[in-house]
Amino acid sequence: MKTVISEKFKTLFGGEGQFYASAGRINLIGEHTDYNGGYVFPGAIDKGILAELALNGSDKVCVFSIDIDEYVEFGLNEENAPSQSWARYIFGVCRETIKRGGKVAGFNAVFAGDVPLGAGLSSSAALESTFAFAINDLNGNGIDRFELAKIGQATEHNYCGVKCGIMDQFASCFGKKGSLIRLNCKTLEYKYFPFNPEGYRLVLVDSCVKHELASSAYNKRRQSCENAAAAIRKNHPDVEFLSDAKRLWLEEVRSEIPQEDFLRAEYVIGEVQRVLDVCDALERGDYETVGELMYQTHFGLSRLYEVSCEELDFLNRLARKMDVTGSRVMGGGFGGCTINLVKDELYQPFVDAAVSQFTEKFGHAPKIYDVVISDGARKLQ
Ligand code: ADP
Ligand code: MG
Repeated sequence: MKTVISEKFKTLFGGEGQFYASAGRINLIGEHTDYNGGYVFPGAIDKGILAELALNGSDKVCVFSIDIDEYVEFGLNEENAPSQSWARYIFGVCRETIKRGGKVAGFNAVFAGDVPLGAGLSSSAALESTFAFAINDLNGNGIDRFELAKIGQATEHNYCGVKCGIMDQFASCFGKKGSLIRLNCKTLEYKYFPFNPEGYRLVLVDSCVKHELASSAYNKRRQSCENAAAAIRKNHPDVEFLSDAKRLWLEEVRSEIPQEDFLRAEYVIGEVQRVLDVCDALERGDYETVGELMYQTHFGLSRLYEVSCEELDFLNRLARKMDVTGSRVMGGGFGGCTINLVKDELYQPFVDAAVSQFTEKFGHAPKIYDVVISDGARKLQ
């Protein structure tokens, strides 16, 4: 990838620039907890964006995307974002940096990536954080990593029409090889935990389906969580978010809220605890417990929170049947990937079975992505 980029850079702009990279992410556990003020537990992966940049002494950004095979130019004083969607991410990062008092001088860039697009691994966060980090470094702005993550998030909000939380950009900016990061979505406190599953592999199985329900169901789930939190708050005024509540406090209001809201809340409160339990298990190097908790999350997402679907339940059942250590749907649900923690010796049989049995049942093949927890945004020497 690096050679292709530097050859293109030389041809287009002459000379050479500085290389920067960032990464996509997985979330091991902690799903639908972010908007409930709970924990998420992401890590950066060994798939990302690589970019070569050099200041060009103008007030223009000239950038070429290898993967899209397209060149875009925009002025730094222009208000209007480019029409090409990939370039809007870079435009947005420039504008958001300037908004925060950062300097952005004109630059040339060529970039490429290997995060599958739209598969739930956040290729967009990889792109934003690569450029946010690079622009910060080239201009000597001294913006800290948290603010770089917020620049990426604000780019999605203001230039790409995606009202996302902070997790993806956070993971991409803070990711470290061999570590997952527990982020408290209420206080934004975070802590690294070791993730070196020797003898195991992490593999995603992408169902390649996206059921339409996703956005309406998402709003309904949020509403259920708010209802449950409001009911609990009457007895326990300190409960700001559902994640602040104890299981017992939910039990107290069981008869006051619809059954559906109760089940949603039961999942969330359980999930917040599972993140803590996974962290404890990782500190002991106990990956079997980690895996069991992943299955519990899948059960909750499927039966209590009801955001799974036939394809994902099928993959999860197959994993269980084959004694895969851990497996669950990753992301918002209604499609996308399962994330699986698999013993080395079981990896090939599991992948083979997932591909053949899924294809037979659903008429199309799933995609397989191996991931290793790796570094996030950085400058390459
Ligand atoms: P994801 O879940 O992967 O983040 P998004 O729809 O949020 O999916 O972001 C995908 C978009 O990010 C692509 O449509 C493209 O505009 C941009 N993007 C990501 N990776 C690349 C890349 N390697 N080259 C060009 N654009 C990219
Ligand atoms: Mg995205």
